[in-house]
Amino acid sequence: MNNFDVIVIGGGHAGCEAACAAARIGAKTLLLTNNLATIGVMSCNPSIGGIGKSQLVREVDALDGIMAQATDKAGIHFRVLNASKGPAVRATRAQADRELYRAAINRLINSQQQLSLFQDEVTALQLSQDSLRGVRTASGLCFNAPKVILTTGTFLHARMFTGLTSTSGGRSGEQAAVALADQLMEHGFALGRLKTGTPPRLDARSVDLTQMEVQPGDSPRPVMSFLGRQEEHPQQVQCWITHTNEQTHAIIRANLERSPMYNGAIEANGPRYCPSIEDKIHRFADKTSHQIFLEPEGLNSNELYPNGISTSLPFDVQQALIQSIKGLEQACITRPGYAVEYAYIDPRSLNPTLECKHLPGLYRAGQINGTTGYEEAASQGLLAGANAALSALGKPPFTLSRSASYLGVMVDDLTTRGVTEPYRMFTSRAEFRLSLREDNADRRLTPSGREAGLISATRWDKFQRKCQAIETEHARMCEHKIAPNTPAAVQLTQTGLDLHNTTSLAQLLRNPQLKYTQLCSLAGIAPGDTHIVEQVANDIRYQGYISRQESEVKRLRELDASTLPPDLDYAMVAGLSKELQEKLNNLQPPNLGVAWRMPGMTPAALAQLTIHLKKHTDLRSMRQSTRCNKASQAKSKQSKKSPKNVSTQGIGESFEGALTQYGKAQ
Ligand code: FAD
Repeated sequence: MNNFDVIVIGGGHAGCEAACAAARIGAKTLLLTNNLATIGVMSCNPSIGGIGKSQLVREVDALDGIMAQATDKAGIHFRVLNASKGPAVRATRAQADRELYRAAINRLINSQQQLSLFQDEVTALQLSQDSLRGVRTASGLCFNAPKVILTTGTFLHARMFTGLTSTSGGRSGEQAAVALADQLMEHGFALGRLKTGTPPRLDARSVDLTQMEVQPGDSPRPVMSFLGRQEEHPQQVQCWITHTNEQTHAIIRANLERSPMYNGAIEANGPRYCPSIEDKIHRFADKTSHQIFLEPEGLNSNELYPNGISTSLPFDVQQALIQSIKGLEQACITRPGYAVEYAYIDPRSLNPTLECKHLPGLYRAGQINGTTGYEEAASQGLLAGANAALSALGKPPFTLSRSASYLGVMVDDLTTRGVTEPYRMFTSRAEFRLSLREDNADRRLTPSGREAGLISATRWDKFQRKCQAIETEHARMCEHKIAPNTPAAVQLTQTGLDLHNTTSLAQLLRNPQLKYTQLCSLAGIAPGDTHIVEQVANDIRYQGYISRQESEVKRLRELDASTLPPDLDYAMVAGLSKELQEKLNNLQPPNLGVAWRMPGMTPAALAQLTIHLKKHTDLRSMRQSTRCNKASQAKSKQSKKSPKNVSTQGIGESFEGALTQYGKAQ
């Protein structure tokens, strides 16, 4: 009863995706968490998606994860951000009903085959001679599994702060994970500290919404999951916008010494791009106003989430600053804002499968790796869950490259660069973002997810039908043409286009001035399904850029395919600086691609490394060849054949061409 293939510790966003992914692949999985009632809880803002993050949500969805499906069941306000910009940076964001989201996640978790749940605090990993056997809990129970995934979020050695008061706790009302953190430290894991925070919540009945700008959801309303439908969405609501003012800023400035971030009680770094209101006032001293979005917490809740004013100032200051804001003059706080400082583990100690380098069998995902945000946590959880299950079942690992996914970008950034502040996804982190769009996440990932065993038959069937429809529509666009001097060509001149040759609709679609429906009407054909058309148009419009990117992607792949020996002593590599030798010895990069992306790596250093590697490989091949020679001579004196050399290809050679052309992207 207590034996599993995979145990997941923590029922947050990383833990839920990890547990479902492991179970989907067929591993007998246990999700062990402090409190079953908090599965699917959103610690901060009940919203999913947004710029950079929605790409991660779509990738989780493309691998049949649960986050997007739950969002479609719980979203009460949907918008497409950056709608006027190109599809590569467009992002869907949904404000969710907190309770509906939790219920949807619980339904999905509870309907997952091969997945069991148990409520208890994990206090220790069970280790025998440094190999992992399972976990021990606060009630003294032992659960056995060869693979364990740690997804304890903000809970390791966590402290919460409001003003000058600080208490132990990972989230309001929940205990910190102290025993487990102590054991991890004893076991040599490098723990650092980070900080995050949340704003006070307000009673909507005490707020004058008529004083504020209304922000309705989008029409047409987007859906988050490929399997989602608008009809699944609950009742939709609107959000509101107000602003801080000079009086608000004066109140904060006058009380900065009572903020734990400024009086030295909190030393850790918080998310720079999602700062607390005291941080904003301090860092952007010349700004006289900051925008606040007032977002409903749910359909049956009177609470509003004031997005943009996270704070750990004392309660009386929180009240004063809130009541200085237009429309909030009478506002009552229902829960005070607070900050939480917690331990994370240096993600450079992880392989790209999210398995710990120094403790095989232990995987980590989510905020424990130094990230922030539900989406970052969920996507790592899915990857860790898949890999733990695949490894437990003796199957090959599932990794994702930077050129294939935002998840690949994030894992590569974390494992090669580490973090100094909570890591949040942005589109600017992805060098191949033109091909990593929300709209094509399934085409990028579903086929490899299917090979790994992550994809259900329902999704696979729907996906294949979609691919077929895209192909058919693309062919139709290539087939239908407009000839010069025809009525259609004359109409095109009105858009400034003078047609000299017969041109296909696909070619014409490359011109961003020309709309798909307009071209269909000129060619006298019926327009196709909107979603399919959008993908075809994006494919055609981005084709030129994507082809140009392909050589870069190929070079990156070559570097990633050049594996580095795990026992390589970089102090022996001539021509590398001491600092770089140390960095490489600490990181022990699995391949040249990871070494190349390490901060401080230069083309010259990479060349030295390649030369060393080639020598190392040749030497190893020679030794192996000599050993084989002796063995074969001893085995058969009659045999005149000499043994084959071990190929040196794949390490230095496949990479040499790439090195000469590759310009390092920082
Ligand atoms: P969590 O969602 O934290 O889940 C961890 C789970 O592990 C919990 O279920 C917990 O009970 C369980 N657990 C912990 N230790 C044990 C143990 N020893 N045994 C058993 N179970 C255990 N993100 C943003 O992007 N923007 C923000 O503004 C923001 N503000 C935040 C404010 C606060 C106060 C907090 C707490 C978080 C905030 N976050 C914010 C972060 C966001 O909540 C996390 O990024 C996200 O929840 C991380 O997901 P996770 O699965 O890694 O961890």
